[in-house]
Amino acid sequence: MAYKVTLVRGDGTGPELTEVTAKVIDATGVKIDWEVVEAGIDIMEKEGTPLPDKTLKSIAKNKIALKGPITTPIGTGFRSVNVAIRKELDLFTCLRPCKSYIGVKSRFSDIDLVVVRENTEDLYAGVEFEEKTDEANKIIELSKGKIRPESAISIKSFSEFGCERIVRFAFDYAVKNNRKKVTAVAKANIMKCTDGMFYRVAREVAKDYEGKIEYEERLIDNMCMQLVQKPELYDVIVLPNLYGDILSDLCAGLVGGLGVAPGANLGKDCAVFEAVHGSAPKYKGLNKVNPMALILSGKMMLDYLGEFDAAKRLEKAVAEVIAEKKCVTYDLGGTAGTSQMGDAIIEKLK
Ligand code: NAD
Repeated sequence: MAYKVTLVRGDGTGPELTEVTAKVIDATGVKIDWEVVEAGIDIMEKEGTPLPDKTLKSIAKNKIALKGPITTPIGTGFRSVNVAIRKELDLFTCLRPCKSYIGVKSRFSDIDLVVVRENTEDLYAGVEFEEKTDEANKIIELSKGKIRPESAISIKSFSEFGCERIVRFAFDYAVKNNRKKVTAVAKANIMKCTDGMFYRVAREVAKDYEGKIEYEERLIDNMCMQLVQKPELYDVIVLPNLYGDILSDLCAGLVGGLGVAPGANLGKDCAVFEAVHGSAPKYKGLNKVNPMALILSGKMMLDYLGEFDAAKRLEKAVAEVIAEKKCVTYDLGGTAGTSQMGDAIIEKLK
């Protein structure tokens, strides 16, 4: 029986990337019945909303989606559709493997890290107060002089529930994927309540995996330096939302940049697979951008479905095409278009 998977085309370069990726995944032989839906600025112009009900319902029903990137206008316009999807479906984990591939230019050649980022709490919860409002003034009063008058305020909040489920995810992922170590990253020396809670909960969870998975802690600032100097020391890294957002781009940089970084947003029983990069709107419709990040997100999707053999073959095909450098996109030093690179990967799968 075919798997029913929602395909969110996205906007900018999203439609061309999702089309090529679906074609490549089909070529693995895994039967997928794609339910194609829209989100982003193009559908906004037609239907007045960037996230039609039908799209969200399709993901909620199928419980699995492959998603193209979606533009978020800066400052004005709608709030991020990406954040809305994660929130609505409670996709609390952002999983980003960062792995070196031969043929991708980078300062390092042997990176194999996994970043596990909490996706729902922290400063990203959207609890913010503009300067000089009654709410902001009340908080300033409560701070007893610690916050300067007329400040704008964003609230950082962690729950034990939120910390526990993300850290447990990281450990379970480590066990399932034969990883050795989980590193919890925060800044608990300064933020004793929130980041202190993150470490406290992580230590408790770590006890359940003693003897199987090693556990250690790093402060976020030190971790940034360690990663650019000694990335080989790290394995699975688990972080709260904001640190995770920043560090996962740093790790993408270690393996050659956004064009090659895959990702997944995972909930209890729902998963959305998408590249780390955005919609690269200046390349829209030009058949130019690299499909590798979305195709490797598709590889993660096949693993999630338990199609391990197909996932392995797909990754091997991608790796071969990149290593040969004959049919790769501009960012990898080639002249091929998105669809030609997709076709080259399909050839390798035959
Ligand atoms: P971007 O990732 O879209 O592009 C930045 C630059 O990176 C591009 O100009 C291009 O040079 C390069 N690039 C990106 N993807 C590439 C690919 N597949 N192949 C080759 N080169 C690639 O980042 P941005 O310009 O900051 O964001 C554009 C829009 O995308 C914004 O509205 C942003 O909010 C949105 N965005 C969406 C997602 C998502 O849908 N998950 C993620 C990040 C950003």
